Amino acid sequence: MTQVETNWAGNHTYRARVERVQSLEQVQQVVAASPRVRALGSRHSFTDLTDTTDETGAGGVLVSLADLPTTVEVDAGTRTARVTGRAAYGEVATRLQAEGWALANLASLPHISVAGAVATGTHGSGVENGSLATAVAALEVVGPDGEIRRVARGDADFEGSVVALGALGVVTAVTLDIEPTYDVRQDVFTDLGWQSLAEHVDTITSSAYSVSLFTRWTDAGIDQVWLKSRVGDGATEPPRELFGALAATSTMHMLEGGETAAVTQQGGVPGAWLDRLPHFRMDFTPSRGEELQSEYLLPREHTLEAVTRLRALAEVMAPVLMVTELRTVAADSHWLSSSYGHDVVGVHFTWVRDVERVYAVLPLIEDALLPLGARPHWGKCFVAGAAQLEPLYPRIGDFRDLRRRVDPEVKFGNAFLDRVIG
Ligand SMILES: Cc1cc2nc3c(=O)[nH]c(=O)nc-3n(C[C@H](O)[C@H](O)[C@H](O)COP(=O)(O)OP(=O)(O)OC[C@H]3O[C@@H](n4cnc5c(N)ncnc54)[C@H](O)[C@@H]3O)c2cc1C
Repeated sequence: MTQVETNWAGNHTYRARVERVQSLEQVQQVVAASPRVRALGSRHSFTDLTDTTDETGAGGVLVSLADLPTTVEVDAGTRTARVTGRAAYGEVATRLQAEGWALANLASLPHISVAGAVATGTHGSGVENGSLATAVAALEVVGPDGEIRRVARGDADFEGSVVALGALGVVTAVTLDIEPTYDVRQDVFTDLGWQSLAEHVDTITSSAYSVSLFTRWTDAGIDQVWLKSRVGDGATEPPRELFGALAATSTMHMLEGGETAAVTQQGGVPGAWLDRLPHFRMDFTPSRGEELQSEYLLPREHTLEAVTRLRALAEVMAPVLMVTELRTVAADSHWLSSSYGHDVVGVHFTWVRDVERVYAVLPLIEDALLPLGARPHWGKCFVAGAAQLEPLYPRIGDFRDLRRRVDPEVKFGNAFLDRVIG
């Protein structure tokens, strides 16, 4: 009996056959032998991005590296760690911490795979922090012929190869920049008015190492502000007062009625970076998600205009919106990165899992945000196609050239890439 396999949110059933490889050699064999093949990560993307199907609906093979052991090899000299392709950030972080090392940033959930996260430009927050792809020093990739090639920072193809949507092959190892371990405290403030945000937006988004603003776009304003501040070594203390927002007196979940046991410790208690930077605890394993997500990243100078435009859509969004999170990401030079060339603000939406109603709202959001230069998060739900995305990515033509050179038979292609890259 064929097992039905879905993504984490359960809204996409993979048409491709999932092949759980048992060795690196088997990855190479499967890739070389398959006419259509892509890598399956930890399944946290929300669309057909990962699948192998093309417009004809013909299936292929999804290579899962989940059965391969995770290894984390630290090189203290170069301050890098080489991690295996299917490694999840949580596991990598735990092993780095045990050896006294750290990563500069993490996404909200530690269970996401490193290779899958960097492939889609996944990010945390912080005005000085680039997306997770900016920590990548090198990749090892199985190309269409089954051969492994290494692409490292400084190589001509590197900036097209990291945020690559799985289109250039199966990544079997990622080398990440590391730094000595550090501690972080997390402080939550509630009820920041829209006026305070308008007057102090840059101060607020810069008021800690990593800042998240949560809202449901009601007149009440920003419901919660989460500040994650590095402690020690002359790091600046978080503010005691945040433009009228009050320090929370108990643990807060960003979703109304959410399980507070799932979130990382708040209340200003210092703890290791890996226990504070993600919103959710490592040891809390979320079940299959009853949600969809979208996110649009636009130049930071347009933050307040984006807020105004989205507030005008508050009523339309309300029936399907669980929460919006605003974060910042520093500019980088990865061709397909949503923060390519600009410091950006990410406007993230957690939706109820109602595909039809969510996809009815997305065109309105895109009409409001794309003219501001907003790029959709590759791993989340959006409707824009290649024609709308083309002007937003100055290096997209170079990416197409790279893809043609690396994968002339389009072995790693799929319907998603046909729609959004062309
Ligand atoms: C609960 C939740 C929280 C999230 N939080 C954040 C967040 O804080 N910030 C943020 O920016 N995003 C966030 N995301 C989005 C998520 O990080 C992206 O969707 C990411 O791509 C997921 O990677 P994955 O491996 O789980 O996904 P998959 O769907 O398995 O893979 C995604 C893409 O990566 C490719 N890929 C995976 N593994 C490899 C490999 N070994 N080699 C080559 N390509 C590969 C796949 O082919 C596919 O194209 C979140 C998602 C969820 C469900």
